[in-house]
Amino acid sequence: MVGMQSSTTGSGPDHGVPAPAPSFPPLRLGTWPTPLEPAPRLAEALGLRGDDLWIKRDDLTGLAGGGNKIRKLEWTVAGALAEGADTLVTTGAAQSNHARLTAAVGARLGLDVVLVLAGEAPAAPSGNLLLDGLLGARLVWAGDADAESLDARARETAAELRRAGANPAVIPFGGSSVLGARGYLEAGREILQQSPEVRHIVVALGSGGTMAGLVAAAGARRVLGVDTGARPGVRTVVGTYAAALTEDPPSAEDLRVRTDQVGAGYATLTSETAEALSLAARCEGVVLDPVYTGRALAGLRAAVRDGEIRPGETTVLMHTGGLPGFFGHPDVAAAVFG
Ligand SMILES: *Cc1c(COP(=O)(O)O)cnc(C)c1O
Repeated sequence: MVGMQSSTTGSGPDHGVPAPAPSFPPLRLGTWPTPLEPAPRLAEALGLRGDDLWIKRDDLTGLAGGGNKIRKLEWTVAGALAEGADTLVTTGAAQSNHARLTAAVGARLGLDVVLVLAGEAPAAPSGNLLLDGLLGARLVWAGDADAESLDARARETAAELRRAGANPAVIPFGGSSVLGARGYLEAGREILQQSPEVRHIVVALGSGGTMAGLVAAAGARRVLGVDTGARPGVRTVVGTYAAALTEDPPSAEDLRVRTDQVGAGYATLTSETAEALSLAARCEGVVLDPVYTGRALAGLRAAVRDGEIRPGETTVLMHTGGLPGFFGHPDVAAAVFG
């Protein structure tokens, strides 16, 4: 660890060298622990035994619709405050759950929030965007932009704010960094306490911090990431963050990542995901979202079909939230009503 620098965004660790623990504690912004609920009807519909499947309700984390980004923000915003920030700047897609929850955390703490979003302002804001406005965040539209150009635009925005006398902190894309992933290191430990026999933890893979923390807590062989196509090269990102959080770093080959649910890309609703949404709703009364958790269940279903997950193996499906995204997706109505 000699020579390692801690930073609020926690980027750039040397592979295989654990990052030093931050000098500040995390904020407590959610309601912990979240429940782990049985899903027997869904288990049987998938071809598992009734008591094999559990849903980790990280959609019930409190604060403005809930979701996985709260656990990451507890660390990244603690880092921002340790640096004296009075303004949070972050990035995302128009329907970013992370952007919405950053707006909520800012409101809760009395910080200004600026969201740099891909695309153009829509005529009729819906879903997460509606909440962003309600929560008082300022929106900056970045046009056609990938994660990197969004990050560049966020840094420019922060520089403008600094010139105007503010003290902004840039929270990374999706809230994912070594620091943010600590929230899911804690979540993984929580799951191991609730279900010591867990064999598979299935999670949607976006910016990578959630899977990375779970891998650091439970080991690479127990975590199955279902890629959503949110960012290229995400397997490497997960490996790097996870390696910085554990003495026993996973090798890249050990990471279990399914790419069969990306379909035509991040924003599209695939037919497998549409089926998964209706399966979870009709078996368990649980609403998943069209971008992340619906894909995670579709990936779990595919994994049972091809034998990667077998009856008798305790499986936890991560419900990472995203309900506002359900109400903000243009293709959901057609999938529900045909
Ligand atoms: C962001 C998000 C994910 C993915 O988490 P990452 O840490 O970005 O990989 C999963 N589910 C929902 C609902 C999300 O908003």
